[in-house]
Amino acid sequence: MKCTLCDEAVTNPICVECLSREMEAWFNETKPSLVSEMKDIANLYLGMEPLHSCVICGEEMTVCRHCFTKEVFEGLIKGNKNMEEDFIRQFNYELTGY
Ligand SMILES: [Zn+2]
Ligand SMILES: [Zn+2]
Repeated sequence: MKCTLCDEAVTNPICVECLSREMEAWFNETKPSLVSEMKDIANLYLGMEPLHSCVICGEEMTVCRHCFTKEVFEGLIKGNKNMEEDFIRQFNYELTGY
């Protein structure tokens, strides 16, 4: 089972919906003005070809956790030092590959 975007094996599949729910909670506490932008990113992935069933809700997922987290990080978080550290800790984001 490989991610359609990065071609990495998906080991702990969590769908974009579940991830975006976690992120929504975080953005609501950190920067509520970005919630809708994060959801726009999530919507890009929700329509893609299914990969695997999510371990949390059982829904089909489309991209790996890392790819979605990366999109959100690079689109909304990067450059904001205070948010960067918190986001990385909260979502176990690894700053690799760029
Ligand atoms: Zn991926
Ligand atoms: Zn899910």
